[in-house]
Amino acid sequence: MPLSFNDRFIQALPADSSDARNSRSVVGAVYSLITPEPVVEPQLLLWSDETAALLGLQHAPDDALHWLSVLSGNAVAEGSRPYATCYGGHQFGHWAGQLGDGRAINLGEIDGYTLQLKGAGRTAFSRNSDGRAVLRSSIREFLCSEAMHHLGIATTRALSLVTSNSTVVRDMFYDGNPRAESCAVVCRVSNSFLRFGHFELPAARNDFDVLKQLVDYALAQHFPDIDGSQPDVVAQMFDGICRKTAELMAHWMSVGFVHGVMNTDNMSLLSETIDYGPYGWLEKYDPQWTPNTTDAEGRRYSYGNQPAVAQWNLSRLGNALYPLINDVEPLQASLNAYNREFHAHWQRLLAAKLGLPCDALSSHPAFAPQLLQMLEALAMDFNLFFDALTRLASTQSDFAAPESSAALLQCSYAESLDVLLLQEWLAQYQALLAAHPLPARATSMRAANPVFILRNHLVQDVIEAAERGDFSPLQDIFTRLKSPYADATDDARWIKKCPPESMHRAGCSMLSCSS
Ligand code: AMP
Ligand code: MG
Repeated sequence: MPLSFNDRFIQALPADSSDARNSRSVVGAVYSLITPEPVVEPQLLLWSDETAALLGLQHAPDDALHWLSVLSGNAVAEGSRPYATCYGGHQFGHWAGQLGDGRAINLGEIDGYTLQLKGAGRTAFSRNSDGRAVLRSSIREFLCSEAMHHLGIATTRALSLVTSNSTVVRDMFYDGNPRAESCAVVCRVSNSFLRFGHFELPAARNDFDVLKQLVDYALAQHFPDIDGSQPDVVAQMFDGICRKTAELMAHWMSVGFVHGVMNTDNMSLLSETIDYGPYGWLEKYDPQWTPNTTDAEGRRYSYGNQPAVAQWNLSRLGNALYPLINDVEPLQASLNAYNREFHAHWQRLLAAKLGLPCDALSSHPAFAPQLLQMLEALAMDFNLFFDALTRLASTQSDFAAPESSAALLQCSYAESLDVLLLQEWLAQYQALLAAHPLPARATSMRAANPVFILRNHLVQDVIEAAERGDFSPLQDIFTRLKSPYADATDDARWIKKCPPESMHRAGCSMLSCSS
């Protein structure tokens, strides 16, 4: 089936006057036309039927060779006019100026979804870099996009992962150990790849004409519920983004997801999880934890900081939109609403994880903080703990029985354990469960507590196999991540604490932005 692209984005928004590949400052424009750079001997490694279905494709392409060349960037499909977009951003709290799609090239839209090749070569925004992505980081991006979707969390999607015989040199830990790595290309799919930074850049340049065009485009395409005749449409859009971002943060926190690089250029206008770099999943419960070694000192993007950082990022977006609103009050009100929404969603999700109605937590305000203190004091694996709790609560176990605490203590990384602390918490928990009977508690807890989590050490194992040419573990983990809330026959392979040898292993708890 031939691909049929549409390009509302490039029709509606101003283009760069040049389509050259040299790195440069692009002003007065939102994008530059640019064709992908070819790779040598592309090979399709992963394909998502679920993402394909969004585009109206029922199954893997019949015309596989044509698709492979389009998805590797070796050919341009009919009707596609590839382009890279221009954005800026605050990185680690500092304004970084123009960034842009330095290695992502948009192919155009199919059925309202934009297809974007990540790692497709140099663009006007590549600065001094090569525009490529390596196999390990592309595997991480593909798998986590799809894992997040199947967990029920808003995310950009992945359609395909193509590897190749082209190579680039990367120094994974910036420590003087460079090596040649295979280039890969992931085709990402989203209704929009607009980031906060797309609005920050024209605002920082006082280019209100481009800013206004971008906002009008975003309103028309992505916020159809906002009545365009109202005078406060921009403030309404900002308010909607604040509320949806609050929900996204609560979702991340509820499954222990740590993005790792929450710069404003990595924040989606649609409040989707975007740009999977040095992300990770909380194993030992520690709010200060971050998988990103680049951030090890400041811990700006640690697990516990994510909700506050998202609000700071939203304030940067509000600042950028201010010239179109000219009133601080609605912006401040939306930032306050962000706080309220985050806490409401977090309470709702935590209550669901515990099998309790929401009002049980609000009427016992000390209970949730005590739970989190206990998880930290006992060095519990965040997701395994809630999985074990789900199994206990659904079999109506007697929580005072030693087997109950033993099942939960299995989830701890600590060497010596304060069993009493756990037993006291369990006694309180059992009393709350008894006081708040919930129909179908077992089912609702299961729906809130995943069995399968895409732990870094699992992904690192499949990456190492893939780098040796063995792609079957990659296929296996891709199959497993599609049903995270169910048990599977091969779970002995996937459902386990981080093994001691992986705790300080490169690619597991130590990741950098080198990708
Ligand atoms: P990231 O940290 O991946 O979100 O990237 C931050 C900025 O660096 C974005 O503008 C990227 O497009 C750009 N970038 C990252 N890696 C490369 C690369 N290999 N070549 C060109 N640009 C890159
Ligand atoms: Mg990025």
